[in-house]
Amino acid sequence: MKLLFEKSVPGTGGCYIPSCDVEAYTLSSSYLREKEAELPEISENDLSRHYSALERRAYGVNDGFYPLGSCTMKYNPKINEVCAGLEGFTDVHPLQPLDTVQGCRKVLDLCAQYLCEITGMDAMTLAPAAGAHGEFTGMMLIKKYHELRGDTKRTKVIVPDSSHGTNPATGTMNGFQVISIPSTPDGYVDLEALKAAVNDETAGLMLTNPNTLGLFDRNICEITRIVHEAGGLCYYDGANMNPVMGIVRPGDMGFDCIHLNLHKTFSTPHGGGGPGAGAVGCKAFLQEYLPYDTEKNEHSAGKVRSFHGNFLVVVKALAYILSLGKEGIPEAAKAAVLNANYLKSLLSGTYTMAQSGFCMHEFVMTLEEEHKEKGFSALDIAKGLLDRGIHPPTMYFPLIVHEALMAEPTETESRQTLEEAANIFLEVYAEACADPESMHHKPEKTVIGRPDEVQAARKPVLRWYAEGMDDAV
Ligand SMILES: *Cc1c(COP(=O)(O)O)cnc(C)c1O
Repeated sequence: MKLLFEKSVPGTGGCYIPSCDVEAYTLSSSYLREKEAELPEISENDLSRHYSALERRAYGVNDGFYPLGSCTMKYNPKINEVCAGLEGFTDVHPLQPLDTVQGCRKVLDLCAQYLCEITGMDAMTLAPAAGAHGEFTGMMLIKKYHELRGDTKRTKVIVPDSSHGTNPATGTMNGFQVISIPSTPDGYVDLEALKAAVNDETAGLMLTNPNTLGLFDRNICEITRIVHEAGGLCYYDGANMNPVMGIVRPGDMGFDCIHLNLHKTFSTPHGGGGPGAGAVGCKAFLQEYLPYDTEKNEHSAGKVRSFHGNFLVVVKALAYILSLGKEGIPEAAKAAVLNANYLKSLLSGTYTMAQSGFCMHEFVMTLEEEHKEKGFSALDIAKGLLDRGIHPPTMYFPLIVHEALMAEPTETESRQTLEEAANIFLEVYAEACADPESMHHKPEKTVIGRPDEVQAARKPVLRWYAEGMDDAV
């Protein structure tokens, strides 16, 4: 497919600007470019076709099954988008006088209030722009708490090895020393290792729950008790709340602070490259360290984002919460768990599961043996799935499982879709067993085949030069 620059025909154009009703101003030549910008010239019709063609090449949740684990790529009712597109929300300015944006304030307050109720927290900030950003903010509160109590010895954060990779990164970015503790063979936090790791230098624990194996830690209350007894605080990575929302509350399990990914659980899809919101909730004793009202609040841990964060993501989250309601939210959670377990059971005889038994909203398969014995890998299966028209699961994550494929069907898939998808997974597996070599060339039916991932990472081509153009576009 040609780029717009290659399609450009001098003299064509589709840009109709109304005539200017203010006096022209001549900029000083020092601000002007020396040469005209080499912009593509293309008619409105051709431009529109260009973007439609691009759109047809993309694959999204509206195209088919998309079981990307740890991302929650689900169907989100379009009403949420409609709400976020209302002029009263899209056309406000963050510096508008407060009395003109009372509706928007109400959206923020109401959403924070519901999220507090769902998580069992007392206060919530909606400012952070992503999950990892929320973690960073949450750990700032914990740091500030110890600092203001003069408990300066507490410089260590405990992170189980089944946590999301952003957890150790967050600890380090906040200046803590990260202590990793192992999981038991069945995928839970090793309580003995935790007891051995806590002491008077423990600032806190960061726990991803459900963890990256898709398991709810059955010892969760014992875990928070051990950390609290040692004087540390407990941070809950709630990026993936959808299997537990409306069922259990981290605040009731002993957690002091949490972040949610509104762009996973609450209506905005993760991974689409768009804006996100990593809402951070905390118990009352941490509230004064939250990033809001930094001018008025001398104990605030500091500002983390301009204004109120990605406001329209919050509008979508509120629309989602209000439309599902008290009954619908736990129902969605149960359906997410049911769907994951159904798909897991359909695949279990063929694919090796990293963990047996029930999972939460996602499960992890391992192709380690196939890779060693049969000559095909998790990557080969993922690429084979692409040729069959479905999006592959997350690959090579979590890191504690070799040759991992992590699948999250989400609550919005029908039984029929799950069964059709399971059949495709089984067919691709059978194909790989019959001819492992052929798998290395997949996908063959997609727009591009297998890119050279090493070259793409080491020598990415980020600019395009046209013939005769001396400047990169
Ligand atoms: C996705 C995810 C994150 C990070 O969220 P981003 O918005 O991508 O920064 C953190 N923790 C867990 C468990 C996640 O699944």
